[in-house]
Amino acid sequence: MGIRNENTGLEHEQYTPDFADYWDDLVGWKKREEGEGGFYERLLGASNCETVADVACGTGYHAITLAKNGFKVTASDGSENMVRKTEENAKQMGVTLQGTKVVDWVKASKDLGEETFDAIICLGNSFTHLFEHEARRDALEELFKVVKPGGMVVIDHRNYDSMLEHGYSSKHNYYYSGKGVDAYPAELNRYLARFEYVFPDGAKFQLKMYPLRQDYVSHLLEDAGFINVVRYGDFEKPYDRDEVDFIQQVAYKP
Ligand code: SAM
Repeated sequence: MGIRNENTGLEHEQYTPDFADYWDDLVGWKKREEGEGGFYERLLGASNCETVADVACGTGYHAITLAKNGFKVTASDGSENMVRKTEENAKQMGVTLQGTKVVDWVKASKDLGEETFDAIICLGNSFTHLFEHEARRDALEELFKVVKPGGMVVIDHRNYDSMLEHGYSSKHNYYYSGKGVDAYPAELNRYLARFEYVFPDGAKFQLKMYPLRQDYVSHLLEDAGFINVVRYGDFEKPYDRDEVDFIQQVAYKP
């Protein structure tokens, strides 16, 4: 496991070139597309968003899917390995992205070159990678700057509330639906969720995450200046707080 960068909370080293290669097997693009059922396309389309920055692009699933659906997408990630993988996947699938960049959320306005977007998306349980409250606050303040007035931000994260209160269970229907991949928390407490990912060939990786509570994330969004926070559970609203695997939080810039 890598050493955490104390300034940004980034754990770039967690996504080694090896893990970046395995990530697509973990994600299972086809099943993920079926599970999401066009949720993000509808959400962004309903707010007339055209330009989108996927600031945690990983291997590019959302950036590429949205670009295929007509959005102008800039894909960025704090991990250079992931950005390169997104570029490879986009090329292989014949999809044009507006740009690809290595961008750390806590320096987003600088790293993205002062550009602003109709929507910022930070999906696939990415925001959980920041371990300090100050880093989360600074990251959202930076992301606020790169959203156009009237634009939106979308963050999703695991339903840690339910995991902490009732223990872990997952339907694996929506996110890590890759064939034969097992993802489970090897360690779980109020301050740490250490997930292990085991692949059919025996390869094993782990990620350390901060268990984000739903109310806390909504308050962070409001503290950064976003308004009208709306939450979905597994892409639906209303939802059962104890039952859903993932929470999608949507908020707007006045
Ligand atoms: N969104 C992708 C998906 O759903 O498949 C990737 C999700 S992966 C769990 C989390 C991503 O967040 C990684 O690619 C990681 O490099 C990125 N990340 C973590 N901390 C970051 C930071 N401070 N700035 C930018 N990206 C970061």
